[in-house]
Amino acid sequence: MSTGSRGFDATAVAMRLAAAPSRSDRLTHLEVLPERAAREASWPQWVHPAVVAACQASGVDTLWSHQAQAADRVWSSQHTVVATGTASGKSLAYLLPTLSAISFSVHAPGVRGDTVLYLSPTKALAHDQLGSLAAFDVPGVRVTTYDGDSSLEERDWARSHANYVLTNPDMVHRTLLPSHPRWAPFWGALRFVVVDECHHYRGIFGAHVAQILRRLRRVAAHYGASPTFVLASATAANPDVTASRLVGEPVGAVDVDGSPRGRTAVALWEPPLTPLIGERGAPVRRSATSETAELVADLVADGVRTIAFVRSRRGAETVALRARSLLASVAPELAERVASYRGGYLPEDRRELELQLKRGDLMAVAATNALELGIDIDGLDAVVMAGFPGTRASMWQQIGRSGRGGQGGLGVLVARDDPLDTYLVTHPEALLGKPVEATVFDPGNPYVLAPHLCAAAQELPLTEADLSLFDGDAAGVVGSLTEAGYLRRRARGWFWTQRERAAELADIRSSGGSPVRIVESSTGRLIGTVDAASAHATVHRGAVYVHRGETYVVDDFDVGEGVAVVSPARTDYSTSAREVTDIRIVEPHHVQRWGDASLSFGSVEVSAQIVAFLKRRVSTGEVLGEEPLDLPARQLRTKGVWWTLTDAQLGACGVEPLDVPGAAHAAEHAAIGLLPLFATCDRWDIGGVSTALHVDTGTLTVFVYDGHPGGAGFAERGFTAARAWLTATREAIASCGCSDGCPSCVQSPKCGNGNSPLDKAGAVTLLDVLLAGAV
Ligand SMILES: [Zn+2]
Ligand SMILES: [Zn+2]
Repeated sequence: MSTGSRGFDATAVAMRLAAAPSRSDRLTHLEVLPERAAREASWPQWVHPAVVAACQASGVDTLWSHQAQAADRVWSSQHTVVATGTASGKSLAYLLPTLSAISFSVHAPGVRGDTVLYLSPTKALAHDQLGSLAAFDVPGVRVTTYDGDSSLEERDWARSHANYVLTNPDMVHRTLLPSHPRWAPFWGALRFVVVDECHHYRGIFGAHVAQILRRLRRVAAHYGASPTFVLASATAANPDVTASRLVGEPVGAVDVDGSPRGRTAVALWEPPLTPLIGERGAPVRRSATSETAELVADLVADGVRTIAFVRSRRGAETVALRARSLLASVAPELAERVASYRGGYLPEDRRELELQLKRGDLMAVAATNALELGIDIDGLDAVVMAGFPGTRASMWQQIGRSGRGGQGGLGVLVARDDPLDTYLVTHPEALLGKPVEATVFDPGNPYVLAPHLCAAAQELPLTEADLSLFDGDAAGVVGSLTEAGYLRRRARGWFWTQRERAAELADIRSSGGSPVRIVESSTGRLIGTVDAASAHATVHRGAVYVHRGETYVVDDFDVGEGVAVVSPARTDYSTSAREVTDIRIVEPHHVQRWGDASLSFGSVEVSAQIVAFLKRRVSTGEVLGEEPLDLPARQLRTKGVWWTLTDAQLGACGVEPLDVPGAAHAAEHAAIGLLPLFATCDRWDIGGVSTALHVDTGTLTVFVYDGHPGGAGFAERGFTAARAWLTATREAIASCGCSDGCPSCVQSPKCGNGNSPLDKAGAVTLLDVLLAGAV
């Protein structure tokens, strides 16, 4: 067989993978997405001729419908979010209006004209934009990046001359807003704000960015400007709702993708059960890494050029080594043509690898997810993902690597042994249908709001009227800040009273508390930081910690100092922390009656303590042992969603009273596992508590809460999507092939009670009773 350059048939390849002996059950679904024809649109009349010329010179002859539709909206000053697929040319939606506005307004040399502020979540992306804008070369456009790397001269030039500034929310927060008088002419002429890749702004980070954008609107208004916002997002549920929350004003969505797409086959794959016995007798599923290695070997043997995405570099190396050894016995000449591809390579080594892949010298590479955006490869036929990469957006980004020259591509999602992956490979509509996953955050989080109100007051005195700009209980928070002496009320409003810069109060990339520093023991080098909120669970003594694909073991964690000392390691096991939790309801904000049952969302006080950790072999999933830990309990005021059933409902449902705690516990675990399907979070971002009798409700109650101070929006999304979320939870439990519960349904690696008691059948019954009254 050739290397697949002609007539690559993704369906046939997927069928051959599944046809191998004993594999028939593993392919759970094969979806063939037909080719989609382009929907073209003509150039809007208002686009400046120089911009049309620049587009055409760069190879853009015609527009896709979503580009024209979004650009039209933006030009007529309507806040707009474009939420279409990867590589659908979202940037034209903002380039046409922004560049046209500058071209029209710069009517003479030296005139600055309208200004544009472009925000991206990373410096690297802003630098990429600089490259594209420079290549466009539209007369009058004076573009620059403004970030931590900019020299003083560059900063001066940006302030006084640039009309297109590429920066990030961190710089706006720390520099552009606090020193707004120095940027007065820029602010006064601000016509557009571009928020690129806005799905990155989720959880606590999303809440911070939402507040920064409110401060930005206030400062711009002070100089007489009221900029139009244009946001670009990966496809997601309700992009208009998310974008409106981020900006603080109504934003309309353009989400019908007019770009063409090649035929793509998506295979969903579930590794088989092994003879190994897991925790409490549960069956152990083959690891996604081992399964991926086998699939890569088969694809290579079939002449299919493949990239595999794996969570850690160690995992990527394992996939490559294992695939090579499998090939060595069947096709030794191919074994050498498989490699791992990771961070830490010199750029020239990476380019050499990319070149080898392009030429076909290499047939397959295994890479870490972290590298996904840094890879410059085309000409691949298949993409194998060892585990769901966390969001649909990243999954499609990865699948988008396959398919060359108009040929079809193949994406294979290999499930990990957890409820979400298992649910996805057995419920294809959740992955391939209309997205239900929403980018969520809570701009009203008082812990986030407080420092931004201080920063706003330092920027310009905060008036009564300003308070409506901010979310949540802004007036209450300002009251507390005034009482505590941070703000003082005068005739013109509230003033910042302290000497330090108020913007320093908020670390927008961390979720509160000082981040814990991770230091390499042999060199003292700072490897990175981890949020205080998740440090206990991720960098406790003995934890295996993966940072940018590199694996370390934590030698020591000093809670008081906030330092974790780590050593590079080549372990063949992973660890998961086990936590025990206690919860108290502070105040319900919303309560829904579901028949006799109830569903609530509100403030809760959580006391959580990491008590032990579990070691699990990476290759097999086998549990190697559990070690106790001695860490202090942490108190957390946050948001939670909870549901209750009455004693009468429990009495009538047929679950024996002794089994009720296990049934509720099992439902809680599975619900935590499934929430990331609806809210872009990780199961580690949330926690849960279940009890047959809770002191605050007087009845059976199951809680799921945000693991970040003040709440990150995940529990709230659980409340608003409760019916769909809990229905999926029920489905995930009921459809799992195990008999009494396993890691694919109701067992949780972070359970502080050693996954006991758990009652799988009882959990389905309780959820049935609850959902019978769902509204
Ligand atoms: Zn199961
Ligand atoms: Zn548990």
